[in-house]
Amino acid sequence: VRPQTFSALQDLDLRGAALDHASLKAVLPRPELNFATAAEVVESIIHRVRTEGFAALSELAEKFDGVQQSHTRVPVHEMERALEELDPRVRAGLEESITRAQAFAAAQVPGETRVRYGTGATVTQRWVPVRRVGLYVPGGLAVYPSSVIMNAVPALAAGVVSLAIASPPQKEFGGLPHPTILAAARLLGVEEVHAIGGAQAIAAFAYGVPATGTMDPALAIEPVDVVTGPGNLFVATAKRLVKGVVGIDAEAGPTEIAILADSTANPDFVAADMISQAEHDPNAAAVLVTDSPELADAVRAALEEQCARTKHSERVRTALGGNQSAIILVQDTAAGIAVCNVYAAEHLEIHTANAGADASAITAAGAVFVGPNSPVSLGDYCAGSNHVLPTSGTAAFASGLNVNTFLKAIQVIDYDRAALCAVAPHVIALANAEDLPAHGDAVAVRFP
Ligand code: NAD
Repeated sequence: VRPQTFSALQDLDLRGAALDHASLKAVLPRPELNFATAAEVVESIIHRVRTEGFAALSELAEKFDGVQQSHTRVPVHEMERALEELDPRVRAGLEESITRAQAFAAAQVPGETRVRYGTGATVTQRWVPVRRVGLYVPGGLAVYPSSVIMNAVPALAAGVVSLAIASPPQKEFGGLPHPTILAAARLLGVEEVHAIGGAQAIAAFAYGVPATGTMDPALAIEPVDVVTGPGNLFVATAKRLVKGVVGIDAEAGPTEIAILADSTANPDFVAADMISQAEHDPNAAAVLVTDSPELADAVRAALEEQCARTKHSERVRTALGGNQSAIILVQDTAAGIAVCNVYAAEHLEIHTANAGADASAITAAGAVFVGPNSPVSLGDYCAGSNHVLPTSGTAAFASGLNVNTFLKAIQVIDYDRAALCAVAPHVIALANAEDLPAHGDAVAVRFP
């Protein structure tokens, strides 16, 4: 006999509702993340870091993280010590995660593309890594050594030569980032780690922070080309605001899980997976999409049972009880797929009778987890896939972190005289049509 039902989670009955994109978008739940309010706070943080440099970082570390700092850079010997003192089981887990992530990242490295237009004309696209990257590793409500791996492994596979990590200073560890984060950085050979959290870390990466006063110049932070990594609302907002000054990966804000399930799904698995993501953040979203009212009831009962004994019960209840979480009833699995494609979840699990086929109909999601044995927790740590994924519906146009995030494509044009001559009349005609005759002249001058 199941105990009482989990009533905080809202119901949304879409049986018989219109399934077109605009209608669904209007009714699907989203967290009330107030980017506008966060932007005010974050803009001022970015401005302060740009103009006041290290003095701003040190004040913000005191305000948000309760630590005093004379500089942000973590000495390498602290990373060595963290690795030496690391629990061997955690080390084995990190190593397994690294091995799997490296295999997938190495397989993603794209090759050159070349097209020949007859003889003497080629266009080639080659991929070049950005020079320097700033990798954000969260460390507020939880600490994320796994995010060191998810950020650094694809950057290294892409061939980036300069990697810097930032993670919030932890009061109980003398103002350093959490030791498992330092140990993970050491395992990957990343030597530059800064104890900086939140929006100020993103600003420091984007604009750089010079050494001041008597500070060793080696402690300055050089600006980066690309900032990546997950984080809370302040981190996600800061990434939005520095985009353009630097490249960013997707907006990887508070976690979301959507689960498409039918009557064949195991309600205990579904509930456990919803709770696993709700424990990240009170703003996290968990959405079940199902055509089975019986499964919906069974999941509610399982949620109540499991919530009572989960460690971060309060945070989970807040996340599941928020407007961003819901159980959505649909007519059938096809309608469920339509809902999921509009919702564009960061994580989408498929627990249906034909999970493989249903997964192949998904066109918008950060990552898709197929069948009962591919929970999101697996992807958070050890699947081989990346856990830094687009949130807030941005999976409609953005991708999870991957090797390409750290690469630029350069197109190389190489024509000989005969090849240029062959196409010259077309260039001249198009130049004249655009009223840019000097363009045509630049070709004609080569054929007097
Ligand atoms: P965090 O490191 O992102 O944030 C902590 C920092 O936030 C603090 O150091 C502080 O500088 C700043 N901060 C806190 N309160 C602030 C305030 N009022 N004003 C300005 N700045 C403030 O760590 P977290 O809070 O634990 O969040 C981690 C987030 O990362 C969670 O939301 C989790 O869901 C998300 N996450 C997302 C993905 C993804 O790929 N989308 C992956 C892993 C984790």
